[in-house]
Amino acid sequence: MVSFLAMKILVIGGGGREHALAWKLKQSGKAEQLWCAPGNGGIARDAECLPVSAADTGALVALGTRLSPDLTVVGPEQPLVAGLVDEFAARGLKIVGPAQAAAQLEGSKIFAKQFLSRQGIPTPALRGIYDAPEKAYDALRDVVSPIVIKADGPCAGKGVLVTSSAAEAKAFVERLMEQREFGASGSQLLIEEAVTGRELSFIVLTDGEHTVSMVPAQDHKRAYDGDQGPNTGGMGAFSADGMLSLTLEQEILETVVRPTLAGMAREGVPYRGFLYCGLMLTAEGPKVLEFNCRMGDPECQAIVARMDFDLAEVLAAAADGRLDRVPIAWRPGASVCVVLASGGYPGKYETGKPIAGLAEAEAVADVAVFHAGTRRQGAGYLTAGGRVLGVTATGPDLAAAAARAYQAAERIRWLGRFYRKDIGKKK
Ligand code: AMP
Repeated sequence: MVSFLAMKILVIGGGGREHALAWKLKQSGKAEQLWCAPGNGGIARDAECLPVSAADTGALVALGTRLSPDLTVVGPEQPLVAGLVDEFAARGLKIVGPAQAAAQLEGSKIFAKQFLSRQGIPTPALRGIYDAPEKAYDALRDVVSPIVIKADGPCAGKGVLVTSSAAEAKAFVERLMEQREFGASGSQLLIEEAVTGRELSFIVLTDGEHTVSMVPAQDHKRAYDGDQGPNTGGMGAFSADGMLSLTLEQEILETVVRPTLAGMAREGVPYRGFLYCGLMLTAEGPKVLEFNCRMGDPECQAIVARMDFDLAEVLAAAADGRLDRVPIAWRPGASVCVVLASGGYPGKYETGKPIAGLAEAEAVADVAVFHAGTRRQGAGYLTAGGRVLGVTATGPDLAAAAARAYQAAERIRWLGRFYRKDIGKKK
């Protein structure tokens, strides 16, 4: 069992999601030492940053062996899909996240789809799985109603096309399978029916048996206001009481979450860690569009801002299989996270711009500024990525949280910075 009094904790990752986790862990009375690999300029305020890439499993294993943390938590999907949890567990190191075989729920859309079908968990109907472009073209020839094409592997959010045009569908398959725009991720693809309804993401933390639901959160993927412009990693997120009724939460737990965890356990790949369910609320009930094997970024920032419990204690319980025995409470009201990005993002952008106004922004009540792409220079910070900061505020309702987040965001400046002005206004 993880010692409860003075834990040494390692966070893997270096973006806004990991800053939010480190920031919350630092507030725990139980975290004696906090490391982050690789971290970033802002995370260095809350944790000791170690220059080991989250993509380098071998180096992370060496780091874990050397530090021997009481608990490790993994932010991004890549180390999970690469099997970091298996490596840590084999060395007796406690870690929160799914093993490689379970992380396939995110790593392979075909694995996820076949699993859902086998278990009878509601998901859009599968039309077919294809491992060669000619076979996919054949299947697409008589498309009339909307269909969805999904690359099997990870494609940085660009591996899905919803269309009712046979020509558009063919062009997409060509990019995935012939031009290999996303490498091996496009070597197989699936085609499924398109479904309609409201989209909702629902995240739980599970120890394999017990689950703790996170407050609901929604992100904004497009670059510009009104959901215009190219897709991004996420330009903001919000969470508010009332986004999800208790009845709907129960329905999602009963029809999706519990059968998924029970099914994975039955199939010999028990799932532990954060499970992100991307759902479509159709007329027939919730259907699973996708799973992620970790928290979303920036949904995590909006969720963490509302946590009114000791995150170190809860993560330790998740690692130990005692999630049913920890107290969970949430700050009532709402939170909003506004992402401040470099001019040009998600296309080409410049970095190395000095950031002004951080202290003034953090002086706004109930605001935390999470760093995604920054590095330290002297006493200040320079931009070091496309998404640079996540200005996150809480409030008694969505309007109040948004007003605080925007009041703080306006105080932060660098050459070219931009942000959406409508975070939290999505219906
Ligand atoms: P995914 O990565 O599978 O969540 O897909 C990305 C986005 O494509 C989703 O957020 C939906 O907006 C859309 N999408 C995915 N699958 C479907 C589907 N079967 N029907 C309609 N829209 C879908």
